[in-house]
Amino acid sequence: MTDPAHSTPNPAPGTPGTPASAPASIGDGDLHTRPGLLLVISGPSGVGKTTIVRYILEHMDVVFSVSVTTRSPGPNEVHGRDYQFISDQEFDQLREDGELLEWAEVFGNRYGTPRRPVRDAVERGRLVLLEIDVQGAIQVRRAMPEARGIFILPPDEPTLLQRLRDRKREDEATIQRRFSEAKREIAQAQASSAYDAFIVNDDLDRAQCQAVERIESWLAEARNGDPMPGRRHGGTQG
Ligand code: ADP
Ligand code: 5GP
Repeated sequence: MTDPAHSTPNPAPGTPGTPASAPASIGDGDLHTRPGLLLVISGPSGVGKTTIVRYILEHMDVVFSVSVTTRSPGPNEVHGRDYQFISDQEFDQLREDGELLEWAEVFGNRYGTPRRPVRDAVERGRLVLLEIDVQGAIQVRRAMPEARGIFILPPDEPTLLQRLRDRKREDEATIQRRFSEAKREIAQAQASSAYDAFIVNDDLDRAQCQAVERIESWLAEARNGDPMPGRRHGGTQG
């Protein structure tokens, strides 16, 4: 993930994914009386998560939750923007102190979501976005059933393999390992109840618009006082 936590003003009228009927208050998270929304986005490595999350950050008023991780920073990554890069000991301490909303080991490194900034932002009425793996999404669903989840699917397996190669980040052996892991992760996501929508990232514009539309409908629901905030929605396929 390469985008910083940031928020932007309300999208201009006519911005893709902004329904004309959206209440004027959407995106303005300053009032204490307005319930926020915790949103989880997951998907296998290479599916296009970063691309779609970047679009959401550019088009909606969102707080991006910066995770902690024990892995080393990549060449273009910035501490405090992409992740907080911390030691194993610091990670253990956060866990022991109950400071992590969820955590998981992914590809041999540990990742976790700091609990307090997420809770504070949701309490302030903000839309808060977590880009985390399936294990983490399952924990979030348990801890906060009112959270919503989107899982990004590839159109098919060969396309996913090609996108992993297109990133030019890893050697072929690592790509194959990530590809096997991706298939396992998709099956785990589909078997879990952690996601409310499955969006196929075939045409990028369409996938991005679908994501924004779903999020806006959940925000409207949360802010209009849905009587069943933990209710599951029919998944979106395609
Ligand atoms: P992730 O964060 O899930 O690993 P990325 O956002 O880095 O995935 O995308 C992986 C690669 O696939 C990138 O090269 C990106 O430009 C490309 N990509 C993303 N979505 C699409 C799409 N719908 N069609 C074609 N290429 C895509
Ligand atoms: P990467 O090292 O490529 O940035 O991330 C690897 C995986 O870890 C991705 O699937 C990403 O979504 C996941 N991840 C990143 N931060 C967190 C987190 O805080 N918690 C969990 N459970 N997974 C995370």
